[in-house]
Amino acid sequence: MISFKDALQNVLNHSQDFGNESVELTKSHGRILAETIMADRDFPPFDRSTKDGIAIRFDDINGQNQSFSIAGVAQAGSPQLILDDETSCIEVMTGAIVPQNADTVIMYEHTSSNGEAFTINESVKKGQNIHYQASDVSKGEVLLEPGIKITAAEIGVLATVGKAIVSVKKLPKVAVISTGNELVDVDKTPLPFQIRKSNSHSLVSLLENENIQGDIHHLVDEPSAIKQRLELLIQEYDVLLLSGGVSKGKYDFLPEAFDSLGVEKVFHKVLQRPGKPFWFGKHPKHNTTVFSFPGNPVSTFVNYHLYFKPWLNKTLGTDTSQFAVFLDDSYSNDTDLTLFVGVELKLKAGNLLAKTISSTGSGDLLALAKADGFVQLLPKEEVSKGSLVPFIPTRNNGVV
Ligand code: AMP
Ligand code: MG
Repeated sequence: MISFKDALQNVLNHSQDFGNESVELTKSHGRILAETIMADRDFPPFDRSTKDGIAIRFDDINGQNQSFSIAGVAQAGSPQLILDDETSCIEVMTGAIVPQNADTVIMYEHTSSNGEAFTINESVKKGQNIHYQASDVSKGEVLLEPGIKITAAEIGVLATVGKAIVSVKKLPKVAVISTGNELVDVDKTPLPFQIRKSNSHSLVSLLENENIQGDIHHLVDEPSAIKQRLELLIQEYDVLLLSGGVSKGKYDFLPEAFDSLGVEKVFHKVLQRPGKPFWFGKHPKHNTTVFSFPGNPVSTFVNYHLYFKPWLNKTLGTDTSQFAVFLDDSYSNDTDLTLFVGVELKLKAGNLLAKTISSTGSGDLLALAKADGFVQLLPKEEVSKGSLVPFIPTRNNGVV
């Protein structure tokens, strides 16, 4: 059996590039940018007024009670006006081009007017209230690098440089496959010996966070039916995310089915808890990557975050962020396994503390709803209260 560290490395070694595709700007949210975005013009593209007021030439100010007659009004969205008289001003609106020959803007609040001329009532600094051309960035400067996740802030940048169509990393086509005769659909009332399928729904909603629409399939515990369905799914999908059927049970038929269908095993079983019976492999001909998680809901959920998410990030050319939190309890791992313990995060005096959640084990699906993530404890590791431990976030709250 291999260690968690080796298992993860093996999974990452099997990341693959699915190439790029062009999508409409409005569909690019959450996708990974696949092109370099440069400023198509200076920002701002002209000297713009940052206030509603009047534009004058600073050197034309020569004393108190001086009045400047109104020579015109510069509106945002209109071509540049010319200030051609030292006794005049031009009214300028926020976002308008500062008139030619003017170099200073005085906000209305610092002036008084009789309707024909303005008097300045406050001291003035040369160049005030002007956002100069190219003072943010110059034409041709790199604004966004490939590999970043497009969020609302990037959408604004893309829009402003005119990217109606954006090149993004292509996402894999993913099948979410549950296995087991005990499983019934969500809208059914289970018989006493049955349970409702939950893993497929958790996985599909996790994939939604990645903008991947997972297709749900189900396999009954019958070897020839499993092989028949899997053969087609291997051809149709880039990734299979399975749950159940890979442990030591009499009805855990998946490893044998993968083998007979030519999916090459990279490893089976990892020294970790939960999620130990994880099977990972790849079909060399169809390039299908197979993540076959043990069926216990917590095992499936944890393994998705431990393996699939970093694999996807690497595949899309982005990094997997590493987090650490302070543990609010002491914890002693006296096993040879890497443990992943569900925690709830709490803010205490400005520090993020992780409190372990009591759970009955990997079947305790309901404890998952309390967890903000999992902390990682190495084999035989003793962690005292207040220690910094690696943290795997499992809520998609935009920060962690
Ligand atoms: P298995 O790995 O197939 O032995 O399943 C382990 C446990 O997880 C069993 O109690 C199953 O009933 C349960 N289980 C398997 N698949 C699912 C699923 N899709 N949703 C909820 N529980 C499941
Ligand atoms: Mg099963």
